[in-house]
Amino acid sequence: MNKTIAFIDDKPTIGKILKTYLEEDGNRLLYFENAPSAIEWLDQGNRPALIITDMRMPLMSGDEFLAFLKSNPLYKPIPVVILSSAESTDERIRAFEAGADDYIVKPFNPLELKARIKKYL
Ligand SMILES: [Mg+2]
Repeated sequence: MNKTIAFIDDKPTIGKILKTYLEEDGNRLLYFENAPSAIEWLDQGNRPALIITDMRMPLMSGDEFLAFLKSNPLYKPIPVVILSSAESTDERIRAFEAGADDYIVKPFNPLELKARIKKYL
């Protein structure tokens, strides 16, 4: 209860939809439009229970963001769920090998996402 989820996607509309579903249980969803702004927030000492990140984003891709998180001992323990618009086996394998905990293809059902991330909250 009352866990913070950091959500990073260059499209704010998805953030608004997820906020509605994921905050129903008393959790908090913090939306970031790009990975660098989420990193800035993490660098201030904030620790979310979970990071959900888009793959295709300007400034820093989901791949690069995931690699950054998993190479930093401070951020490595935070579970990361990848949201991707590509149903690509190669990308999926790459994400899991880079340390992603789950991989969800867009468009997705918010209720399914909610069920899948429950174990991290
Ligand atoms: Mg995108």
